[in-house]
Amino acid sequence: MSFHLRLKAAVSGACLAAACLSAAPSLAQNRAADLREQVGAYVKPSNAARLEVLLRQLRDEGFTPSVETFEGGGRGEPIQGSNVVVTLGEGPKEILLTAHYDAVKLRDGTMSQGVIDNAGSVVALIEAAKILREAPLSHRIRIIFFDQEELGLIGARKWIEAHGIANVAAVVNSDIAAYGDTMMYGQNNGPQSAFVTRAVQELCAERAMQCVGFPVYPPSDDRAFSAAGAPVVSLGFQDEVGAHQMWLAFNGGEANGLAEGFVPQVFRLIHSKDDAMEAVEGEAVDLAGRTYAALIQKLDAHLR
Ligand SMILES: [Zn+2]
Repeated sequence: MSFHLRLKAAVSGACLAAACLSAAPSLAQNRAADLREQVGAYVKPSNAARLEVLLRQLRDEGFTPSVETFEGGGRGEPIQGSNVVVTLGEGPKEILLTAHYDAVKLRDGTMSQGVIDNAGSVVALIEAAKILREAPLSHRIRIIFFDQEELGLIGARKWIEAHGIANVAAVVNSDIAAYGDTMMYGQNNGPQSAFVTRAVQELCAERAMQCVGFPVYPPSDDRAFSAAGAPVVSLGFQDEVGAHQMWLAFNGGEANGLAEGFVPQVFRLIHSKDDAMEAVEGEAVDLAGRTYAALIQKLDAHLR
């Protein structure tokens, strides 16, 4: 969709200004196209190359990210990993906004393009960071881009090992956020997380956003934090039908009404060759970024 918008913009540049005014893309369309392009930059043959893209995008926006390396790797030989952290604001307690930037290795040995899972979230977090650095905050906010989620939440576990969670007031994690206007949130991160999911529900109501709460939600880096006892919510975006189908697949039990062997679309896309730019909508990344920033601000005020 955004590809056609950019094509239109290029064509309009070649014709008479007066005749082309009506064909010029709006600011919102330009913004969506830009965000989509930023997501596309993560299509790289290695996670080391994705790390370079992340650092460049952060520095281009005026942030000074720190890189925290760790000895990781899943089963087998150790692989060095790199978590990337941007810190905003001051305060004795901190709120974390997190997403993994690594992509999964496919069965044929090549890398997934990893745009739905999870470059969309990464770009949304950068957008949220841009909003939050202008906001009055009473907590330190750490925006953390984890490595090696796909190898078993290793980047998140190593961060917890290194820093502990004593000062962590709340964690908001994003995994899968590249298309659709429906926000999903997990409700299975323990009783200590109830106030975080409540903040999500309040935000959804205030913004009249379509949101779907999942009593059972698939794991991401949030599980490393809930295992350590931290209050955490895991968020994601997709289209409304897909979100409800996924709800039924995880929460509907035997009589979920889904056809025999049905796999929700998002699970046909991720961890496959189909996790590709065709599915990515800049508008969804924009919505995710603004929503995450608003949630952090709500938690910051609530936890004051
Ligand atoms: Zn993921």
